[in-house]
Amino acid sequence: MAYKKFRGDYLFTGTALLDSNHVLVTNEDGAIKDIAPIDEAGEGVQIFEGILSPGFINCHCHLELSHMKGLIREHTGLVPFILTILKQRHATEEEIYEAMQQADEAMFQAGIAAVGDISNNALSFAQKQKSKLQYYNFIEVSGFSPAIAQMRFETALNVYNTFKTHFPNHTSLVPHAPYSVSKELFGLIDNIENNPLSSVHNQETPDENTFFLTGEGQFNLLYETIGIEIKPFYKPSSKTSLQTVLPLISKPKKLLLVHNTFTSQSDIDKLKTLSQVQQAIFCLCVNANLYIENKLPPIDLFLQNNCDIVLGTDSLASNHQLSILSEMITITQKFPHIPLTSILQWATSNGAKALGLDDKLGSFVVGKKPGIVNIIKLTKEGNLTKDSKSVRVL
Ligand SMILES: [Zn+2]
Repeated sequence: MAYKKFRGDYLFTGTALLDSNHVLVTNEDGAIKDIAPIDEAGEGVQIFEGILSPGFINCHCHLELSHMKGLIREHTGLVPFILTILKQRHATEEEIYEAMQQADEAMFQAGIAAVGDISNNALSFAQKQKSKLQYYNFIEVSGFSPAIAQMRFETALNVYNTFKTHFPNHTSLVPHAPYSVSKELFGLIDNIENNPLSSVHNQETPDENTFFLTGEGQFNLLYETIGIEIKPFYKPSSKTSLQTVLPLISKPKKLLLVHNTFTSQSDIDKLKTLSQVQQAIFCLCVNANLYIENKLPPIDLFLQNNCDIVLGTDSLASNHQLSILSEMITITQKFPHIPLTSILQWATSNGAKALGLDDKLGSFVVGKKPGIVNIIKLTKEGNLTKDSKSVRVL
């Protein structure tokens, strides 16, 4: 068997950043064989500038919105953003298919190995079946009026069953967000069998908490605009949005909380009381947060609390690119005290674990096939710069 050998200025294993004295050895098919000291690696070592890393894991994306790139202006705030999505998400099927295919290929080329992807319909199913990326499919349901809970649930269940045929272990049925899913619909989702990983958009705007704490704020405008009279069924809970809905997402063993821009210590304390039965994972989508709200999540607070962190790009409706490296660059620039090793781990092994894909992906461990990404254009000290690039090697 012929081996392939790779040596960079740095080798990130998925958990540790090693120096250039280490050589990554793979089988012909890319399966990890060894990490060998340079003097034992023998002939035929390919040399790379910069960092060699396992393929990145994008834990939050909406492939089916790829045709909306550049359509929505930045810094509108979440509610105007959602209203524009609802108005403008329609396009011809050809446009949608073409944009998804391009976005999927761009993610692969930029070193992404797997994607946790939100689907509101089955339009992305064909692309995902033929993709070189691994997909974990979050079939998303929304509907704030209790009257439509059953109908929305059944529609989503059809999409879920379609995805299950090809991705039996990598498909979940999930709620969209606390403000867009009725208690009744949460109940239907929570009751389905074998749905161990869930995901929910969480605290992306301050108005989300306000809506649950006092009943005020922009979400009233959202429901007025789309013609839903919420008074007959909606009462504020006097708790944050997250603390209001946590009891309604009781069955999943793992819960991916996406965005968390306005998550507080008291929310984290509440999650800690549940940690014996449910693992909360904080998915950061910093470029989308800057795009929509021009705010960043309290990453230092998550670090102080030892939270599990992963990264996502969100969709091309709220991001200029679907690049995990871009997310890492933004975090490095806005939070320069966070070590690169931590950020790389969020982007690789943490993401793979979160999506249950760590049997193959996320780290250079013997037998896995995580892909290899080369990160170039670093500072002298080996840190990311705004010009850093990620290129797929394998
Ligand atoms: Zn999203």
